[in-house]
Amino acid sequence: MSQPHVLLLGAPGAGKGTQSERLAEAFDIEHVTTGDALRANKDMDLSHMDTEYDTPRAYMEAGELVPDEVVNEIVKTALEEADGYVLDGYPRNLDQAEYLSDITDLDAVIFLDVSEDELVDRLTGRRVCDDCGANYHVEFNPPETEGVCDKCGGDLIQRDDDTEDTVRERLRVYEENTEPVVEHYRDEGVLVEIDGEDTPDDVFDAVKSAVEDAAN
Ligand code: ADP
Ligand code: AMP
Repeated sequence: MSQPHVLLLGAPGAGKGTQSERLAEAFDIEHVTTGDALRANKDMDLSHMDTEYDTPRAYMEAGELVPDEVVNEIVKTALEEADGYVLDGYPRNLDQAEYLSDITDLDAVIFLDVSEDELVDRLTGRRVCDDCGANYHVEFNPPETEGVCDKCGGDLIQRDDDTEDTVRERLRVYEENTEPVVEHYRDEGVLVEIDGEDTPDDVFDAVKSAVEDAAN
């Protein structure tokens, strides 16, 4: 197999970004994340499309899904440019999953399983570096100096959508739209399910093994 094509599934806060960073480094593959791509293009003008809101920002601040035609295009371009990849945050509904199956083949589909109470604690305590995007948690993974990124010295901020009300809405949207995607891969018999409540190191060992197994 050339470079692996990995899909990492899980609810918001399950640890996809944390584990994707490590996988990307370990296997020398691209980390393709629709969330980061959309945050970098929050004010993209969607007014020419027949959409509810005019920018990705409005959807994200409401905890709703950005329209498929916007995210499908982002993913198509990113995958065309990647040899191997770990895909994080996509597909989030069955139409996106169908689109994905038309544009690429997957070697490993991994699901990080985390309970709802833990997800809320993780998301409301998450802090991200405003400069380099590094990921922290006020309790579970604090920086050495409060508010300052260990890696680049940048400011740590709370994402606009990591407030309790928006987190609850994102989890509702996940249950309604994305759980059927998990079920779809489970039905196909390709889903590797991993307990995402272990320590980040233990979760990584399991995720890495799943990718290595897929390569053999
Ligand atoms: P996702 O990308 O799935 O939304 P993240 O990787 O951003 O999730 O993780 C959400 C929050 O939980 C972050 O603050 C991160 O530091 C923390 N976190 C990630 N994995 C674990 C873990 N195994 N145990 C405890 N906290 C974790
Ligand atoms: P994330 O960083 O993955 O938690 O995503 C943050 C927000 O970006 C989501 O709540 C959505 O508003 C939007 N988003 C990210 N990925 C997608 C996707 N695949 N489809 C639609 N919206 C997305």
